[in-house]
Amino acid sequence: MSENFVTHLECGLTGEADYEAGVVHGLSRAGRPLLVRYNLDGVKAATSRDEVWARPGGFWKWRELLPVKRGENIVSLGEDDTPLLTCSKLAANRQITGEIIIKDEGRLPTGSFKARGLALAVAMAKELGLTKLAMPTNGNAGAAMSAYATSCGIESYIFAPDDTPEANLSEIQLMGGKIWRVNGLINDCGKIVGDGKEKMGWFDLSTLKEPYRIEGKKTMGLELAAQLGWQVPDVIFYPTGGGTGLIGMWKAFDEMEQLGWIGSKRPRMVAVQATGCAPIVKAYEEGAKHAELWQNAHTYAAGIRVPVAVGDFLILNAVRDSGGFAIAVDDDAIEDARQEIGTVEGIMVCPEGAATYAAYLAALDDGRVKKDEQVMLFNCGNGIKYEMPLATASLDITNPVDYSAIANA
Ligand SMILES: *Cc1c(COP(=O)(O)O)cnc(C)c1O
Repeated sequence: MSENFVTHLECGLTGEADYEAGVVHGLSRAGRPLLVRYNLDGVKAATSRDEVWARPGGFWKWRELLPVKRGENIVSLGEDDTPLLTCSKLAANRQITGEIIIKDEGRLPTGSFKARGLALAVAMAKELGLTKLAMPTNGNAGAAMSAYATSCGIESYIFAPDDTPEANLSEIQLMGGKIWRVNGLINDCGKIVGDGKEKMGWFDLSTLKEPYRIEGKKTMGLELAAQLGWQVPDVIFYPTGGGTGLIGMWKAFDEMEQLGWIGSKRPRMVAVQATGCAPIVKAYEEGAKHAELWQNAHTYAAGIRVPVAVGDFLILNAVRDSGGFAIAVDDDAIEDARQEIGTVEGIMVCPEGAATYAAYLAALDDGRVKKDEQVMLFNCGNGIKYEMPLATASLDITNPVDYSAIANA
């Protein structure tokens, strides 16, 4: 890779397009996310969808549509395409005639789809000569940043709410990140980074506060379309925190259409949140352009406990332009969904992933999704990182084993 096709960056809010490629960028002058723009005619002339898709596994195969300029800056921990798992038993049990597909992102390095965004952000940090990265995290982003940063000799400083899943906190430390527990929420952690970055010489890798995590998450849209034979599903349910993936996929569909890789059909994009933290759902229902800070945010689905998102308007635009909607589900519905997917299909999902199935069931009930549609649910992380229901049955080897009781269990 000796050249790439980035032309410039532009402000996602104002459309101002005078942001130069190849230099360090944070937010736009309007304080909003920057979007990377490409010479798509150049990409079209240079390659084809089938040539790209035939490359070996993982999101780096989409390099013509990614911002990294020099191949030596790619950071890799063995990425692969994530599988589409068709849930025919869940469907049959509920007389669903369409298709329920789980895209299982838990298979990526560091066990979540954060690997996509952070691999790109870290590679670009490397390319631009940054040496100290910092971020607030609910767990998986910090894990992905620390692993990729360590893999290329960059330091990482990470601040997480003190009730972040323990597996994530330990993982970050074990992957060489410097991690602090903070007695606040992710936005409080974000303030620590924002206030300290100048003094500490950190580059702020917070969600959407630099331009490249979106580009990494965009590869989910490219990959799923290729996996469906260059088609898109009718509906995508996405567990929405900062919204990087939803925004990224929406951008991917546009770029692919301009390249002639897919047609004009778009999935209805559904932003799924928890009732204990649903700023995007509230803004969607009120017809607002931006979302207000959510007070007293709580849900055990840590990845979507995000009270405020700097890209709120990009999420809401994608949801509305696609004809989708935003929907909240409570923690009990999330846990029921997780148990149903596990015990019926044998698929381990994380709470955030389970939330998408709970939201799908609610949308079937209220008629916003029909039983004959093809829906894709994002399982964004590996469920092993989260608390699971305790196994309580036991046997006492000093007594005879009661096999009939086992048979009836
Ligand atoms: C980060 C995260 C989310 C939210 O993703 P965004 O793209 O930031 O909205 C959902 N689930 C899990 C497990 C996460 O780690």
